Amino acid sequence: MGKIALQIKAALENVEELKTIHPDYAFMLKLKCTGCGEVSDKWHDIVESQTFPGKTGRSENNYIAKCKMCGRENSLDIVKGSNASYRDYDQGKFKSIVVFECRGIEPTEFTPGESWIVKVKESSRVFDNIDLSEKEWVEYDEKIQQPVEISDMEFRFTNVK
Ligand SMILES: [Zn+2]
Repeated sequence: MGKIALQIKAALENVEELKTIHPDYAFMLKLKCTGCGEVSDKWHDIVESQTFPGKTGRSENNYIAKCKMCGRENSLDIVKGSNASYRDYDQGKFKSIVVFECRGIEPTEFTPGESWIVKVKESSRVFDNIDLSEKEWVEYDEKIQQPVEISDMEFRFTNVK
């Protein structure tokens, strides 16, 4: 049981703000059952605006499933209000962009996928529906006549109190 933050780090060029289409963004995670240690090879989509009922029907969660190995029902939720964007002044540093409340499971891997939004620095230009599957992205903004770029993306999970 605990809260785990997803932190990202990236190099930005002419990017003021990088964010997801919260609360409809699908965080793609690989999950580990902390009961038996089983790591599923599958990517799971965790979306704050989507919830599913558990077996007991007592609560709804952003993710709930029985572990295939030990049969335990595990769940995970995105902590409301934990969503944050990555900004130009965060460059080169790890920053938490979301916190997961984990019950019986923990994330082991994250892949950024699609549906990111980039606000260009010193420009009114906003690029949306950006695909960061390759962990990098580059475009050209005619207004500032400069490339807009995201590169060197790294991810890690950290325990939060
Ligand atoms: Zn298990």
